[in-house]
Amino acid sequence: MKNSRSIPHPTISQVKIIDNRNNFPISWLNKQGFCEYGIYLENVRGIEVKPTKAMVQGTVEHAVLEADFKEGAQPATFEKMLETSETSEILSREFPVISSKYGIRGFIDEVWMTPDEFMIIDDKPGTVAYYSSINQVYGYCLAFKDMVDDDRKIIGALRQRGTDNVYWSAYFNNEAEINTINLVNRVHELLVGKREFVSTKNPNKCRGCRFNSLCDKRLDF
Ligand code: SF4
Repeated sequence: MKNSRSIPHPTISQVKIIDNRNNFPISWLNKQGFCEYGIYLENVRGIEVKPTKAMVQGTVEHAVLEADFKEGAQPATFEKMLETSETSEILSREFPVISSKYGIRGFIDEVWMTPDEFMIIDDKPGTVAYYSSINQVYGYCLAFKDMVDDDRKIIGALRQRGTDNVYWSAYFNNEAEINTINLVNRVHELLVGKREFVSTKNPNKCRGCRFNSLCDKRLDF
């Protein structure tokens, strides 16, 4: 993996400029599916609100899983892991991915590497396969695919947080790849002002939104 030059975006939080291209967190694909205007409020306008209970719980559970995993883990380089997985199954947690080509980066909750395929797992609270969650896990698949020079198939999967319950999975096929690239490009167009951040039309989302007390686009609920 090559080292890329990275500097923070001068005005948009969480965006970095890597290899002369904006680079945003892949978790934004989930936020984008919920309400693009939330990304605008938080990262362009810089509004700060407390994280939700689910966000805090997710961070704690990540840390516990990570600690459990590290106890029995063998340190390995990415290249070594890929090579090992050609003949045996291996698992990695909090796997960092970055694509300067697509301008995205993040940490995959868990990657299973087998001689036949890679499974990219994202842990979520609950068991509903929202399209925003699917977009996020496909974003990880896209960045992962860009990093590996390997013909093995890639599967995106959603797992109920804190359990072994994989409640949704699908191959990251051509159609999924094209749709994900289009979505990533849409977010890039938002960041450079080519498109307007669109607010949700669903008042139920506003009800559960952590920005609802400060949002000028909030719908009555
Ligand atoms: S309050 Fe509603 S419109 Fe505003 S950011 Fe939240 S979900 Fe979007």
